[in-house]
Amino acid sequence: MELKDLVGVGPKTLNYLNDLGIYNMDDLVKDYPYRFEVLIKRNIDDERYYDSFVSDGVVQSIPVVSFFKGRMNRLTFRCNVQNKLVKVTIFNRAFLKNNITPGKTITIIGKYNPKTGTIIASNILLNKLENKVQIIPVYHLCKGITSKQLRNFINEGLKYYDIKNSIPDELMKKYDFISECDALKIIHNPTDEKTLKTALKTLKYEELFTYMLRVRMLKKKNEEHNKSFIKNINEEKVNNFIKSLPFELTKDQEKVTYEMLDDLKSDTKMNRLLQGDVGSGKTVVSFVLAYASSTAGYQTAMMAPTEVLAKQHYKNALDLFKNTGLKVALLTGKMKSKEKKEVYENLKNNKIDLLIGTHALISDGTEFNSLGLVITDEQHRFGVNQRLKLKNKSISPDVLMMSATPIPRTYALTIYGDTDVSSIKSMPKGRKKVITYVKKTDEVKDVLQGVYAALKNNNQAYVISPMIEENEETDYTNVNDLKHKFELAFKNYKVGMLHGKLDDEEKEKVMQEFKEGKINILISTTVIEVGVDVKNATVMVIFDADRFGLSQLHQLRGRVGRNDLQSYCYLISDKDTKRLKIMEEENDGYKISEADFKLRGQGDLFGSRQSGALTFKLSDVRRDYDLLVKVRDDVNEYMKNKDFSG
Ligand code: ADP
Ligand code: MG
Repeated sequence: MELKDLVGVGPKTLNYLNDLGIYNMDDLVKDYPYRFEVLIKRNIDDERYYDSFVSDGVVQSIPVVSFFKGRMNRLTFRCNVQNKLVKVTIFNRAFLKNNITPGKTITIIGKYNPKTGTIIASNILLNKLENKVQIIPVYHLCKGITSKQLRNFINEGLKYYDIKNSIPDELMKKYDFISECDALKIIHNPTDEKTLKTALKTLKYEELFTYMLRVRMLKKKNEEHNKSFIKNINEEKVNNFIKSLPFELTKDQEKVTYEMLDDLKSDTKMNRLLQGDVGSGKTVVSFVLAYASSTAGYQTAMMAPTEVLAKQHYKNALDLFKNTGLKVALLTGKMKSKEKKEVYENLKNNKIDLLIGTHALISDGTEFNSLGLVITDEQHRFGVNQRLKLKNKSISPDVLMMSATPIPRTYALTIYGDTDVSSIKSMPKGRKKVITYVKKTDEVKDVLQGVYAALKNNNQAYVISPMIEENEETDYTNVNDLKHKFELAFKNYKVGMLHGKLDDEEKEKVMQEFKEGKINILISTTVIEVGVDVKNATVMVIFDADRFGLSQLHQLRGRVGRNDLQSYCYLISDKDTKRLKIMEEENDGYKISEADFKLRGQGDLFGSRQSGALTFKLSDVRRDYDLLVKVRDDVNEYMKNKDFSG
């Protein structure tokens, strides 16, 4: 049976259904209400005020419609409610006039005032209240379809559409679920809260179960082996390397390092997300792991989302590993093919222990000799497909993903199926909270003063230029403009600029000069958003701050405050200041992302690429986290007992 076979669904209605995201019978019967209105009939009395009064009544007079303020209207009529005559008013429902006729029984929901005998209705249903408690499913609607029509289609569909249980029998029994078919009937036609709860429970479970099962099957298909090689790590060497670092690891860094070293040593594949706020020091942890792998004879691939970042990691690695004999190489898309060839050769011949690069790492030319560990920095920047591709470069390397955009465990679980999560919660010693100010464009003078103070103190400043659109041409104009302005304002200082139109070498040169302090103010587009580490920078100025998500602002702000000096961040905008003010208060990336999530929706948290995987119809991965964990375990158990080779 198809949608178009339903009574009343012609080509036009079919289009409307499509608008609601309903393309087939399955979509239709699973077009769940987004909320339920629970109506409990109230007893009218002469004393009691009700904010939400509900009762049916019989219409006593022809409604009068009056218009005011141009577009608004008010509909008024008298009604017999539990033998009391009340005056009912409802706003902007003039269209109901012809349906509210004397003698008809209707249900009124609204605010009741016993002194005046009036009800200001928020809603009027054109039928009797059948039970003392009535639950009304509320659906997302679009132009062309009423709630009543939609429910008719759904119920019609439920009659003819064959719904098979996707929850296996043993789990149905275990949790006392009802059949999916019954559950669907109930959710669209709820009679009481108890059965509705059971139905919801069943369908939520079903939703998460089918999803998890799919994720796990995919995973299984993608990985021939879940086993990894046991890495015979030379622990003494690793410990010595840790001791040789220019600083002492923080407690959290140490903890996660040893946690992951255990993963590497075991024969089960490591699949771990290392999460830590901007500046918490994830890179060095990943380097320790790369070093450990090399002592066991395995190569490591480290993938960064931008060239600038890949190069920074490369430089750091060269520095950290200079006395260890570990061989580091860089591979980026823009390298000359001769250079690339050389890298490919060395990689194949095991002359490289750690290869750092951009997505060029997963190009077809790369062939590792003994890839044992894959690290992706700023994990959330990569699409799912890219990750899978890199993993396939070896039979089954251990995988470490790093992200500063805090991915709540819930998401980790749903996006990545079964990823372990390690967190670095503390910052290296001596770090100060970055003081943040939201400033109007006409307060730019204050900002310049802040910049000046930093420069006078031999510190440096980042200035993120306004962003009109993601267009290299206009971005360039903006950066260039701003550079001139800053040059005028800071005559004795050197202003540099970084933008998408620079070629690699130029970018590199600018970054290097900034690092060395030869450039005092770096004007930039958001190329520097992730990962860049210049300790001496203490001021971050962001123009058009309202154009960014809070998490992104937090990332940008994280470029400063990387030493024991007081750093400052200025967010310049005339709009959206309420949202931006959150940045003044909050310095915790996790909380900021929560706030961002609430304000902008989950899509923005990960970029559009991954958001699709996160949206469920019934379940909310935050709220239903416990259920999600249960489902994951059930799916694992289920897969263990079934043969899915076919
Ligand atoms: P992120 O976690 O944002 O990637 P980085 O790895 O770039 O952070 O580290 C931020 C800065 O802190 C770097 O300059 C790094 O050298 C420094 N750092 C890392 N760990 C420590 C530590 N334990 N003590 C002092 N400084 C550290
Ligand atoms: Mg980093």
